[in-house]
Amino acid sequence: MEVIKTKKYGGHILALPYPSQGHINPMLQFCKRLVSKGLKTTLAITNFISSSTRPNSGIVGIDTISDGFDKGGYADADSVAAYLERFEQIGSKSLADLIKKYERSEFPITCIMYDAFMPWALDVAKKYGLIGACFFTQACAVNYIYYYIHHGKLTLPISSTNVKISGLPELELRDMPSFIYVHGTYPAYFEMVLNQFTNVDKADYVFVNSFYKLEAEVADTMSKISPLSTIGPTLPSFYMDNRVENDIEYGLNLFHVDSSTCINWLNSKPEGSVVYAAFGSMSTFDDKQMEEIAAGLKASSSYFLWVVKTSEQSKIPKKIIDENSEKGLVINWSPQLQVLSNKAIGCFFSHGGWNSTVEALSFGVPMVVMPQWTDQTTNAKFVQDVWSVGVRVKVNENGIVGREEIEECVRTVLQGEEGKEMKKNALKWKDLAKEAVQEGGTSDKNVEEFVSKCIKQFVD
Ligand code: UDP
Repeated sequence: MEVIKTKKYGGHILALPYPSQGHINPMLQFCKRLVSKGLKTTLAITNFISSSTRPNSGIVGIDTISDGFDKGGYADADSVAAYLERFEQIGSKSLADLIKKYERSEFPITCIMYDAFMPWALDVAKKYGLIGACFFTQACAVNYIYYYIHHGKLTLPISSTNVKISGLPELELRDMPSFIYVHGTYPAYFEMVLNQFTNVDKADYVFVNSFYKLEAEVADTMSKISPLSTIGPTLPSFYMDNRVENDIEYGLNLFHVDSSTCINWLNSKPEGSVVYAAFGSMSTFDDKQMEEIAAGLKASSSYFLWVVKTSEQSKIPKKIIDENSEKGLVINWSPQLQVLSNKAIGCFFSHGGWNSTVEALSFGVPMVVMPQWTDQTTNAKFVQDVWSVGVRVKVNENGIVGREEIEECVRTVLQGEEGKEMKKNALKWKDLAKEAVQEGGTSDKNVEEFVSKCIKQFVD
């Protein structure tokens, strides 16, 4: 009787995402995929996120843990270091309490799947004799660079202008993640990304939200010394293979989204005519940079849909917005997948966050990338020089990306001959992304293998 029950659900995965939009989306999506293949999953979000959003997680259960900042989340912490330290301290205990709660239920937790940013979750999993699955939300290339540094194979600061790492194309210093090329910046975050590798060798599974053909060389090189499985892209199944029922959107928005306004606006625009400008959930710009973006978009003479958080909108010069009411629409937050899949979109002007990059590739949309920090610089290098699906903006001597540069980059992608080539390449990646998650694809096989091992473990 017991065996039949466990066979039916095959184990219960407790998924622990790092509490930001770009980390919750892929983890929640991956959970949906696992449920569709027979596992039970519960996503543990923080008390703050639970009380400030309305998750629509569909087939994935939701529960909560504490990061030690239940009222205001990250914004209540004095510093990044203080947030991370308290999260580890309170979060470890809270995670253990959650495991104990389910021990008494019909579906005890069998595996902890945790964001690689939180290696302490593996220690908790092992303390309770559970399977530990580490989930990386950044590119294999970026993970490998951090792995290299963590293991002392590359000494910082780097004095040469070029960096050679086996499995990666030759990188200029500015292509390295920002914590490395501007050595000394964001020390707490830098420590966190290196710490991803402190105990990863003890994890039973290591997943990366990427797909094999996109990063074959580095995935192969890294796998030999630090095993990994590519399982992405984790976009809703509706856009990829349509095998997970009702999986049409990311189910947890940390920001308020008004879909109909922007989709109606997009539907009224000609095919391939709109620049979608969005820089993820964390980037902010100073007044001068905002003015240059606004002026650059205007000068490109294209339609533009620009995501600017309400709190930042006062930085946009009113004159430019008024003069462009016909051409441009500024919104607080977008349903990004619906936007990128809309025929009107011809170019994605992006910060190069990993999710945004993979989403653009999965929809075949060429990019202008304006990287800000963390892994975005490395992603931008790949977008421009490896996958040839976009251009990276040049920063001027004042540290600003000027309006002429923005105009030129947008025109190149949207109107030029080079842009046509980029579009063609992007469409090729779109097909390969789908192929990876479809039945028998590289990501699908990796997911199947994990699921069948989980199920087998409980039946045996
Ligand atoms: N996103 C969205 N609406 C927006 C901007 C972003 O839904 O207006 C989503 C986007 O689809 C992606 C995530 O938020 O899945 C952002 O992740 P990314 O890694 O691109 O950037 P981050 O926010 O981590 O810098």
